[in-house]
Amino acid sequence: MAELEGLEFGKSDFVLLDEVNMEQFMENLQLRFEKGRIYTFIGEVVVSVNPYKQMDIYGKVAIEAYRGRELYENPPHLYAVADAAYKAMKRRAKDTCIVISGESGAGKTEASKYIMQYIAAITNPNQREEVESVKNVLLKSNCVLEAFGNAKTNRNDNSSRFGKYMDINFNFNGDPTGGHINNYLLEKSRVVQQHAGERNFHSFYQLLRGGTDDMLSNLHLQRNPEAYVYSKEGASVITFKTNFNDPAAVLSAMKVIGFTSEEISSIYKIIATILLLGNLEFECDGEIVQLPGAGSVSHVAELTGTEPETVSKALLYRTVATGGGEVIEKGHNKLEACFGRDAFAKALYERLFAWIVGRINTVIEVKNYNPALHGKNTVIGVLDIYGFEIFDNNSFEQFCINYCNEKLQQLFIELILQQEQEEYHREGITWQHIEYFNNQIIVDLVEQLHKGIISILDEACLTVGKVTDTVCLETMNTKLGQHPHFTSRKHCPTDKTMDFQRHFRIRHYAGDVTYSIEGFLDKNKDPLFQDFKRLMYNSADPVLKEMWPDGQLSITEVTKRPLTAATLFKNSIIALVENLACKEPYYVRCIKPNDVKSPVLFDDARCRHQVAYLGLLENVRVRRAGFAYRQPYARFLQRYKMTCEYTWPNHLMDTDREAVEAIVTQHGFEGDVAYGHTKLFVRTPRSLFTLEQERAAL
Ligand code: ATP
Ligand code: MG
Repeated sequence: MAELEGLEFGKSDFVLLDEVNMEQFMENLQLRFEKGRIYTFIGEVVVSVNPYKQMDIYGKVAIEAYRGRELYENPPHLYAVADAAYKAMKRRAKDTCIVISGESGAGKTEASKYIMQYIAAITNPNQREEVESVKNVLLKSNCVLEAFGNAKTNRNDNSSRFGKYMDINFNFNGDPTGGHINNYLLEKSRVVQQHAGERNFHSFYQLLRGGTDDMLSNLHLQRNPEAYVYSKEGASVITFKTNFNDPAAVLSAMKVIGFTSEEISSIYKIIATILLLGNLEFECDGEIVQLPGAGSVSHVAELTGTEPETVSKALLYRTVATGGGEVIEKGHNKLEACFGRDAFAKALYERLFAWIVGRINTVIEVKNYNPALHGKNTVIGVLDIYGFEIFDNNSFEQFCINYCNEKLQQLFIELILQQEQEEYHREGITWQHIEYFNNQIIVDLVEQLHKGIISILDEACLTVGKVTDTVCLETMNTKLGQHPHFTSRKHCPTDKTMDFQRHFRIRHYAGDVTYSIEGFLDKNKDPLFQDFKRLMYNSADPVLKEMWPDGQLSITEVTKRPLTAATLFKNSIIALVENLACKEPYYVRCIKPNDVKSPVLFDDARCRHQVAYLGLLENVRVRRAGFAYRQPYARFLQRYKMTCEYTWPNHLMDTDREAVEAIVTQHGFEGDVAYGHTKLFVRTPRSLFTLEQERAAL
């Protein structure tokens, strides 16, 4: 509470603002940031501003201060939300989830790690060995996932290039018994190409810079990242965080998790294979494409447990089934060969990453849990997923990421805003309806069957013959021209900011984004010649083979209509949202204060934009129009009965509700509450704060 911190630090809950408007919101946010108060509540939501410096607020003392306490008893902190989620799970056997959102560099991953550390610190007081080991693996998994899934971008030195949802399972004691990780849409295009000033995934540099001479020589690698097409862009980019380059930490984390030395060796071989593949060049001799670097091919073969001839063949030819059921080999032209090689490198990395996640899951999966014996198994989910992206050039990846954010915003609206209004209705409390923008219309624009953008893309990908990106864009313009959130030639033919032959624009809830259609169809179709899959399936390396089960199919058995990348992503996000929707949600909304990683600069315009698109003002309005806190009568009475002569030492009233009314009246905050059918609703945290103080003073 403001009072707990002192007023010079601003309002610790935006609900306490004198007036809810952008100016006051920003003033408070900036004041708190400048005073080193990086967290602020909106009721139970925590707004976090990246401090860009180490803060001394995460130690043991802080953990003890938040442990088991109510949200309003302490200054705002991630620990308060983590504890609220934990209490809901432990006391009420509720599955809960903590959704962390914000743009790249806003501090989502750091927040998720602090939350996990908090949960690890407050559980297992008896130090039971099997629980300690589960906790250890859960914490160490972050290090491994970051090595393989994070990269330096222009926005963030340690940017997560995948979405992560982690379930932590608990037994009836409230101790972790295991977990499960889901990963979403790894940005695999980074494996073969990076923007200027950015790097490939950390894992490549960790191996090159940190591997021993022996290791590198066995992997046929040189130490210098400049030597490889796939890593040279980032070679001179220095990140100052040593852990991004520290292979020892990752290696030790992998060992703690239980990766065998064979598995670790296979992982390094795959990374080396990818680097070597990137350096393979193709030569044209008339129509025939050849591989001049026979040496590298044999190294690739050695590292992947295959034969040099089969590697060359997979790189130069593809097997196709003709209409008549005949199987023939067709030589690539140079472009096709390069495309195939890059697709292979990307797929190798994507499957490696998925395999690593799966491997961690086998270790942390809950084993031998008998609900009859151990009680209900409850879950806290932590979601750390890419925030909304608007770049200068927005492609298929941004389209998917922004769609995902529309879905999460939809969930936020449903859970926080809609449910809130419904609860007042249910409890018979009158209140003023709050207008808010429901983004369902944009979600439909993207995902609706037959009519939505994904359907149009899929149709174009599945059409036999050459449908180009431009043709597909034309179809979108025709079919979606009237949609209020889709800008096309039909809408504004005079708009000079976009080229209607190449661009389309979606009016997202967070702002307008212009997408360039170029590459959409290829990325959506995501083709990989079956020859590569078969090559890997036939590898003598069992780890590698395991990653390519679909390689056992022959070309005639391969399904002609595989699900596209956008549809796979859509399905995974729909499943994610369904999963989150049946849990009690807690939110952390992260804000990036500036684009230069400064601990002192508060860029007003940038922050204002984020506050707007995260819907924080609406969030405050709903909280304020309504009631920030609520508790069933019995629970309220239980906690505060000792502060009132009518309820302590004897309960003199007929019902719990009457008893609660007596407490409220005695303290004089009748104006701050409303009585629902089953719960007391409290408008501001001030009243609860007074009660808490009285209780503590007794
Ligand atoms: P992305 O979407 O790119 O993955 P992100 O939201 O996960 O971004 P983080 O990687 O969590 O962003 O944070 C970026 C950087 O900001 C961190 O590497 C760290 O330097 C700094 N940072 C974030 N949160 C904190 C914090 N609570 N304390 C100190 N530094 C922080
Ligand atoms: Mg991150």
